[in-house]
Amino acid sequence: MISLIVHGGAWNIPDDTLEAHRTGVAQALQIGWEVLRTGGTSVDAVEQSLRCLEDDGTFDAGCGSHFNAQGVVELDASIMDGKTFRCGAVGAVRRVKNPITLARKIMEDSEHILLVGEGAELFASRNGVPTCDPSALRSPREVKRWESIRATEGFTTKMAFGDHASDTVGVVALDERGNLCAGTSTGGTLNKHPGRIGDSPLIGCGTYCDNAVGGVSTTGWGEGMIKVVMAKTVVDYMDQNGGDAQDAAERGVAHLKRKVDGLGGVIALNVLGTFGVAFNTPRMARAYMSSAMHDPFVAV
Ligand code: ASP
Repeated sequence: MISLIVHGGAWNIPDDTLEAHRTGVAQALQIGWEVLRTGGTSVDAVEQSLRCLEDDGTFDAGCGSHFNAQGVVELDASIMDGKTFRCGAVGAVRRVKNPITLARKIMEDSEHILLVGEGAELFASRNGVPTCDPSALRSPREVKRWESIRATEGFTTKMAFGDHASDTVGVVALDERGNLCAGTSTGGTLNKHPGRIGDSPLIGCGTYCDNAVGGVSTTGWGEGMIKVVMAKTVVDYMDQNGGDAQDAAERGVAHLKRKVDGLGGVIALNVLGTFGVAFNTPRMARAYMSSAMHDPFVAV
């Protein structure tokens, strides 16, 4: 059994960008699927799918990321290997186009889990992960978006999950050896304070993975996700309910709402390759495929 699930954010995705979201998650799914289909590992599938989403420009990740309150892009990402429990994560990096690759490098080639800011960038340059000028991460669309929300009186980062934007990306994969991996990548919330880190790079909040149970990636208002340790909570629900990924995802989102009035969505994949998706925002971009299906499922 091989299985792959991808998300591209949960918010009120506007009609005129539905096609770009659909195409983006479908393409990332196809890239990861090719890795799994040809016998590759779940870690490779997660990294390759996420790199595709980071490079797409449609999503709040890599080169399409939102600006912080200083008009600068700061990226967060994490990855977790369900077989070994090894994980890697980066926070608030300004000079790395593909933070998921840096997160993987930290997972595989360091004794640490989470590196932030300049220290993470130093690790990148010392370990062969390409760095870039911060201006390479500034998309013209995001310049306009940032200027328009700065003119919105009373704007808070949580409001983005309604009618503004939140396009964090995430992937969970199961390879033919039965190994699971989960990863998440984001530019974080629109107009966030410089140095703010959300749920996405925090293991247990934005990403969690355990070969014995399943893997999860989240998207949504990070401050709420952190308070309920969202990704681990959904994995725990899966552990308790006999591995029902859909039930666990729904319970997770209900818990998020009930406990902290949170907004967002999750993708979940269990060790048997069955999916779960739940969200309480108007829309969520997602796609999945398994060797038990004829065609991929893609929806926004
Ligand atoms: N969870 C991300 C954060 O708070 C944002 C998102 O999912 O769009 O940084």
